[in-house]
Amino acid sequence: MRLDGPESSNVEDRRGQRIGGRGIAVGGGIGGVVILLIALFLGVDPGVLMEGGDSAPAPAAQRQASPQDDAARHFVAQVLGETEQVWGAEFARAGTRYEDPSLVIFSGATQSGCGFAQAQMGPFYCPRDRRIYIDLDFMADLQRRLGAGGDFAAAYIVAHEVGHHVQNLVGVLDRVDQARRGEGERAANALQVRVELQADCLAGVWARRAQETRNILEKGDIEEGLNAAAAVGDDRMQRAGQGRVAPETFTHGSSAQRVQWFRRGLEAGRMDACNTFAAAP
Ligand SMILES: [Zn+2]
Repeated sequence: MRLDGPESSNVEDRRGQRIGGRGIAVGGGIGGVVILLIALFLGVDPGVLMEGGDSAPAPAAQRQASPQDDAARHFVAQVLGETEQVWGAEFARAGTRYEDPSLVIFSGATQSGCGFAQAQMGPFYCPRDRRIYIDLDFMADLQRRLGAGGDFAAAYIVAHEVGHHVQNLVGVLDRVDQARRGEGERAANALQVRVELQADCLAGVWARRAQETRNILEKGDIEEGLNAAAAVGDDRMQRAGQGRVAPETFTHGSSAQRVQWFRRGLEAGRMDACNTFAAAP
């Protein structure tokens, strides 16, 4: 990628912060299990839009802060800045105002408006506090394990979370929340898949618009993005995590669906191409 725009000023760096004054180190092993139990008891809000989740392959124990950290932080801040430019212009064109989300970088665990956040949940968006939460080490680790490397693959993940924020601003998340109430698990999952595929499509729209206005893509970037979309498909993640695939439990869509919707957004470059709720499943 060619990123020469300014960093977003909406990045909140919470790395190294302690929770409750005692400090919680989250890694693999006992610590991770204890944290997971705490999280279960505290109850992470079901409205939270998690990526990865239970079926993600377990990451290695948390690494110490690396020299790449600041480069990764800079990169994420620049990508977020690019999304602000694109969505600001898109919303203005539609006669409304885009309100920037914040992006919280944390290490291990932090508190979110949707409950206790831990790295193992993967990057996620909390509609309630309009923040994206990312543990950079965990994300890099997950990308490596899923074989979804490259800078544009990482940008796609950020753009997908920003896509959830766009859904929040235009009211899609509220409407889906209401529609999910009273539905059985299978129907609720199917709605959730449409939410996730739409976020993929919006990530594609962002990439297209940013390319048109600021020429951010280099050779191989599109392929990286498509590869990343395939790598985080529920079928691929379930196979890697638990060795079998249960389509009725999908919450993000299959690899093929995620690639298809990311590509659709990329080719159309328009939000109205992203109506995953009207399309056949
Ligand atoms: Zn998502």
